[in-house]
Amino acid sequence: MKKKVVVIFTGGTISMKIDPEIHAAIPALNSDEIIAMVSNIENVAEIESINFANIPSPHLTTQHMMSIADTVRENILKEDVTGIVITHGTDTLEETAYLLDLLIQSEKPIVVVGAMRNSSELGYDGSSNLSAAICTAISPKAKNKGVLVVMNNEVNAASEVTKTNTLSLDTFKSPEFGPLGIVDNDEVIFYRDIAANRIIDTNTIEEKVALIKTATGIGLDVLDFYIDSGYKGIVIEALGRGNIPPQLVPGVKRAIMNNIPVVMVSRCYTGRVLYTYGYEGGGKHLKDLGVIFGGNLPGQKARIKLMLSLGYTKDIEKIRKIFED
Ligand code: ASP
Repeated sequence: MKKKVVVIFTGGTISMKIDPEIHAAIPALNSDEIIAMVSNIENVAEIESINFANIPSPHLTTQHMMSIADTVRENILKEDVTGIVITHGTDTLEETAYLLDLLIQSEKPIVVVGAMRNSSELGYDGSSNLSAAICTAISPKAKNKGVLVVMNNEVNAASEVTKTNTLSLDTFKSPEFGPLGIVDNDEVIFYRDIAANRIIDTNTIEEKVALIKTATGIGLDVLDFYIDSGYKGIVIEALGRGNIPPQLVPGVKRAIMNNIPVVMVSRCYTGRVLYTYGYEGGGKHLKDLGVIFGGNLPGQKARIKLMLSLGYTKDIEKIRKIFED
């Protein structure tokens, strides 16, 4: 008997075709049409399809992502299901994958996959990516690795991977540590292990979390806007090792005084933030003000983590622990 994989289809380029009237890609294919393009997959696994949605990933909201998590939870508990695959637009794929990684505790493989070329283009990569994702979902080696992202025959950890290129098929990279492994035909080979993520035990997500990217001369008005608009959390993509222009410091103080957690990560592509610099707006100064350090996460993932943390607790010290411990 073949192992069973539940494939949850959400949309994205993997389900798109060029519309003849507008000459641009739009969602068009349903699950059966996509699966039909994955030749011989019936020899590898039994597939159960769920048509969750057929939308481009810039249209997904965090509420959609929470419902995807519910659908994964429901299905992963079923005894006859070996693993789960989620098809997704690549633009926000890393956000959904990381959200699932933070929410779902299961030893069974959960794999997120997309495509960079739609089905009207030469060299549609949806079928090969989906077959590699299904092979990963049934591989015993893929157990207990958290949520995985499989594209272009590489297996990456949701906590590490990011979209690095607007058009390349090998766009998904883990810039800090490299891929966990590869899919070679139908065999999944891991080169390294990964420590399990700490799970955030919540069914709620706080929507009002801002993400601010710093740049030379960026000003206080940005933070004032979010504080005055009732935002409940702020992520700052700081400069370098974790420093901000001094004119942002009063806004950071005001946010923290208003019980709004401020999480700092770096706008640098790789590396952690740390309290290295003691000048005004430097990491040490920010630490003393109560800023939470977000490690080496990119801003978009730190934001997902803060949104879930705020769903779990409003206590800034507990949120600090989630990020810093
Ligand atoms: N814009 C598309 C989306 O994220 C890109 C893709 O799927 O590759 O839905």
